[in-house]
Amino acid sequence: MTSSTYAIAIGSNRRGRHGGPVAEVRAAIATLAGVHAVAPIMASAPLGPSLRRYANTVVLLDSDLSPLELLAQLKAIERGFGRRRGRRWGSRVIDLDIVLWSGGSWYGRGLCVPHVAFRDRDFVLRPLCRIAPAWRDPVGGRTIRQLHQLVDRARPRD
Ligand code: ADP
Ligand code: MG
Repeated sequence: MTSSTYAIAIGSNRRGRHGGPVAEVRAAIATLAGVHAVAPIMASAPLGPSLRRYANTVVLLDSDLSPLELLAQLKAIERGFGRRRGRRWGSRVIDLDIVLWSGGSWYGRGLCVPHVAFRDRDFVLRPLCRIAPAWRDPVGGRTIRQLHQLVDRARPRD
């Protein structure tokens, strides 16, 4: 398979053996092969019933792996970081999601690319906008910059 580019969202809301969430995110980036762009790490408010804070970022990487092969590798890394299976919104040392793939869309067993929720998530779109503002969502054709503006405008202000 020829090399393609992936945008990978990385999140943590629990201490692991590297330290707090930011240290865990940095350590996860270091384990990924082919990374050529890293967005600034941001801290975001907790989502759902979890009361913890998150550290989040997005990286771009080049890989010869298919989306399914890459997902298997990401899950292995999550396990290595001590990710527990189970509750979706629970605490996790590391969460690695495939957000976008230069090959377009992929719908298959246990994998949906683009990631189903990324268009609603400021903590994905904000970092992604720093490294790939012109990447177009293959579903709907909007750029990352446009998707981020939509979410940013809808955000409650204090
Ligand atoms: P979330 O990332 O939404 O908080 P999980 O990390 O627990 O939830 O993911 C649950 C499942 O979602 C994974 O086991 C994986 O098979 C599936 N999945 C579907 N699409 C994707 C994707 N684009 N990236 C990563 N996982 C995905
Ligand atoms: Mg995930």
